[in-house]
Amino acid sequence: MPAQLISGREISATIRDEIKERVDGLRERTGRVPGLATVLVGEDPASQLYVGMKGKAAKAAGIHSEQIILPADTPEDEVLGVVEGLNANPDIHGILVQLPLPDQIDDQKVLLAIDPKKDVDGFHPVNVGKLSTGSRDVLAPCTPWGVVQMLLRTGNDPRGQHVVVVGRSNIVGRPMASLLLRRGEGGDATVTVAHSRTPDLGAVTRTADILIVAVGRPGTVTADMVKPGAVVIDVGTNRVDAPERERGYRVVGDVDFEAVSEVASWITPVPGGVGPMTITMLLSNTVDAFEAAEGTP
Ligand code: NDP
Repeated sequence: MPAQLISGREISATIRDEIKERVDGLRERTGRVPGLATVLVGEDPASQLYVGMKGKAAKAAGIHSEQIILPADTPEDEVLGVVEGLNANPDIHGILVQLPLPDQIDDQKVLLAIDPKKDVDGFHPVNVGKLSTGSRDVLAPCTPWGVVQMLLRTGNDPRGQHVVVVGRSNIVGRPMASLLLRRGEGGDATVTVAHSRTPDLGAVTRTADILIVAVGRPGTVTADMVKPGAVVIDVGTNRVDAPERERGYRVVGDVDFEAVSEVASWITPVPGGVGPMTITMLLSNTVDAFEAAEGTP
């Protein structure tokens, strides 16, 4: 029987409705709303698009949104000054600096300058450290945090399950493993992390009750690498040539979707799977940051 689809679009829409309700409630009780600032340096079209999408999504949820767009040749000091200003701004609860930054700016320096309480991307070493030591009082990186929501909201609680994560990046693989290892809701899994130096990847992935793939290479996981009945989450987002399409490409994941659908019990599509969850969890983190800063009225 083909696997059931885990629709990131649907889950995302539900969570965004919940976020809007939370924001409406906060506005009624406090007269204030959470604020999200995005900082973009330069004119990279993809970054402009992402920043625009984030601002639009924030506004739709009732979140105050500010976009700071600086010229590509802005000196590092000036960017750090903007971050300091946002750290001190009581109307801003979440700060996101769109990466990559131009060459004259040290990404790490800028990341370190963000107040960890406003680090809604969850990339500041304070948040990384808290998450990897099992804290629940932390802003978690949006993509893996979205994956946890997808599992919970489809009844695929990772508690007690063997989860194999393929990929060990700081953005997806590592925080994914940390989230699943935490005690309590959305965690309590037995976690194995595989990567490019893992010999016989299939032997590892076949042991997974839940398989999460974040590699960035189409066709990394084929049907023979999946245990029958496993839940498969495909984080991969890859452009492949599609001359028949007007734009010349299509987006695929890391998993051989058609074949794996015949083996898995649940599977995420690409597009429409994990992708839509990332901005949603950014909004969720912004509301969490507001509540942590102002108390839950
Ligand atoms: P990285 O390139 O930073 O990391 C890829 C990981 O995959 C590395 O740990 C690498 O291992 C591992 N890897 C590479 N080749 C293999 C292989 N043949 N077998 C097993 N492991 C392998 O990528 P990201 O984590 O940033 O992103 C992964 C994918 O997820 C990309 O397609 C990206 O576009 C997508 N993505 C989607 C998001 C969304 O939907 N919102 C958000 C973020 C990412 P090693 O460490 O040994 O090099």
